[in-house]
Amino acid sequence: MGEFDLIERYFKRPERTAERSELVKLGIGDDCALLQPRTQTQLAVSSDMLVQGRHFFADVDPAALGHKALAVNLSDLAACGAKPIAFTLALALPEVNERWLAAFSQGLFALADAHGCELVGGDTTRGPLNICITVFGEVPIVNGQSQALLRSGAKAGDDVYVSGSLGEARLALEVMRGNLSLSDDAGEDHFATIRQRLERPTPRVALGLALRGIATSAIDVSDGLLGDLGHILKGSNVGASLEIDAFNTMQLIAYYVDNTWASGKFNLKNAHNQDLSLQNTLIGYIVAGGDDYELAFTASPTARAQVQVAAQAAQTPVTRIGHIELEPGLRLVDDSGAIVQHQWHSFDHFAK
Ligand code: ADP
Ligand code: MG
Repeated sequence: MGEFDLIERYFKRPERTAERSELVKLGIGDDCALLQPRTQTQLAVSSDMLVQGRHFFADVDPAALGHKALAVNLSDLAACGAKPIAFTLALALPEVNERWLAAFSQGLFALADAHGCELVGGDTTRGPLNICITVFGEVPIVNGQSQALLRSGAKAGDDVYVSGSLGEARLALEVMRGNLSLSDDAGEDHFATIRQRLERPTPRVALGLALRGIATSAIDVSDGLLGDLGHILKGSNVGASLEIDAFNTMQLIAYYVDNTWASGKFNLKNAHNQDLSLQNTLIGYIVAGGDDYELAFTASPTARAQVQVAAQAAQTPVTRIGHIELEPGLRLVDDSGAIVQHQWHSFDHFAK
């Protein structure tokens, strides 16, 4: 099968004019796609690349990979409060494997259709498996002001929130690497759940849209909360304190943190952090695990009710985890307000 047959068969779809964004004037097939922004709007544009061995295992389910490749990009639109319109796909493939391509495109298009985001172009070449997607979204301008959620708007006194739950993707990754095992009765079910969090993350698009005009800043948590929130602090020239107890309300991982000491049900095999307790390791996954694709955002304390309304409208739970301060830096504090010393770091591809 040649390059053009491959594109025709797996990536060009019959036009579905009913669902197509009115902004897409021309899709796959010419030298460029044509998008027509509406007046009083801005285009939000973002790219994310997934590289085999770096971001996924070679044997990962290709349908999950198709989902995740788009999900991580939609997550960036969500963090800006942008509505998805379209995306392009640059794909390097070591070979033409039709079963792989069918599953990959099925996973990709299922998520694309759920968000009304159309594949409008791309590039296909032979090479080590590499997937780069660029997404395009729309942000309104109201009274001359862009409604985009940026990293630069946090103010001292603002509350800090995070959506959903953190740490589960990293927990799944460490189980798959053989560093941890969930050996209690519920372990198998729990593993299935957290594996979904790693392989099929849910981009918080609805929440990002609902937070326009409410959140003062936002970012998506891809490399770990401490590092990503650090980008907001730097962008906004402020600091923050996070209450470590606030994370105890977070779904599954809290269950494991709570049960760690008492039950002895969890085995830490070949711990990669031999010097840390298992409980510390798990809290580390929450605050610095990475691959969460939740939104971290700030909002004025006067907007607490509005934040809850937005979260309900988006059917996405949010947890208030701390507040912004004038003093630079990011502090973790316990329930007495004392600073918790720690060594957790977010992921950095070029860290030595
Ligand atoms: P060009 O040579 O002008 O770069 P190509 O021959 O690479 O164009 O691609 C032909 C058409 O197919 C273009 O419209 C391009 O955007 C689209 N295309 C190529 N690869 C992909 C892909 N992986 N997914 C979606 N569209 C693609
Ligand atoms: Mg090309």
